[in-house]
Amino acid sequence: MKKQFLICTLISLLAVILLSCQNNEAEYQVDDHTKRGKSNLELKDELLKKQKIQLAAVGDLLIHDRVYNDAKTSGGYDFIPMLENVEPYLTRPTITTANQETMIGGTEIGLSSYPSFNSPVEVGDALKEIGVDIVSLANNHTLDRGEQAIKRAISHWNKINMPYVGAYQSQADSEKIRVIKTEEDISLSFLSYTYGTNGIPTPNGKEYLVNRINRKKLAEDVQEADKISDVIVLQLHFGNEYERMPSQSQKELVQYIADLGVDVIFGHHPHVLQPVEWVEGANGNRTFVAYSLGNFLSGQDAFYRRIGGMVQLTIEKKQNENEEAIIELTEPKFLPTFVDLDIDSTSDYSVVPMYKLTDELLRDHQQHYQEIKQHLSQWMPELSFIED
Ligand SMILES: [Zn+2]
Repeated sequence: MKKQFLICTLISLLAVILLSCQNNEAEYQVDDHTKRGKSNLELKDELLKKQKIQLAAVGDLLIHDRVYNDAKTSGGYDFIPMLENVEPYLTRPTITTANQETMIGGTEIGLSSYPSFNSPVEVGDALKEIGVDIVSLANNHTLDRGEQAIKRAISHWNKINMPYVGAYQSQADSEKIRVIKTEEDISLSFLSYTYGTNGIPTPNGKEYLVNRINRKKLAEDVQEADKISDVIVLQLHFGNEYERMPSQSQKELVQYIADLGVDVIFGHHPHVLQPVEWVEGANGNRTFVAYSLGNFLSGQDAFYRRIGGMVQLTIEKKQNENEEAIIELTEPKFLPTFVDLDIDSTSDYSVVPMYKLTDELLRDHQQHYQEIKQHLSQWMPELSFIED
């Protein structure tokens, strides 16, 4: 009896749910003029088109002493004033990643600058605050202050609930591929590797401390990531410092990774912007590549090293005719940024969108901005620029 009653209730409930679903769908069709006269298949296709997110990345945060001294407060450090001008752009995308080039080992082990960096933990707090969702830690400065700085940094990233990739606290930690699942039901794996660590060797048996570029390992990781996510985002610390165009070896590695089927490559290390490009992989797949995102926040003062930015693209998850999920990358955009400061006092560091510059902040800013736009989009004419 009881069971029958339950079944009846369930059936009625199901009927109500089904009816209400149909109602919603019907209403939707009537409400939206564009839906009229379309088949269910077309409507389903349109619904799936709503599975759309924005992915963004910013380049190097290289925290020299002049930068952290400028952020000093009575009680610690505050990097928010330096970054608040760009916060609205970083919070807007669904997922934003950053290359945290210097380890945030904190003041307890002594802060330090070039060539062996250690940064305040507050850098991490600021990134969290301005909308960064995951940080890349594999770079030539990862081992600057050894295992201690890496572990202290990671413990802070964990404390503030910030996923990190490319440097790890243990073998087990390094084997867990970082996957971010969005509300739109799109999952993204993040991987990160560096060409080297300025000659500092990895402590024996602790390869997990920093991911190095190794084609075999890369291929294995991509294969694993492919099984557990819709999209693979791979960050590379590579290329030649201060060169505005990618080197032959950057190009070759990118082609190798495109052939593995990776969707997005974000590059960093040259400290200047390099163009973006679509690269076709061996299976006809298309990989979005930003060869170098430049410096986002650093104490480097040469002109092009003060320019960086945020790259952004739309990721859509759709189904093909065989009902298999396919990923489409569209709407590549860029927000070029400029590190403003008071040169005389090396203070008042602030990251400013280039389109908002004035002649007071940078003489001939319009010409510089135009030149940067042309430089970035030379291989991707459809690249648009964020100016609102
Ligand atoms: Zn670097």
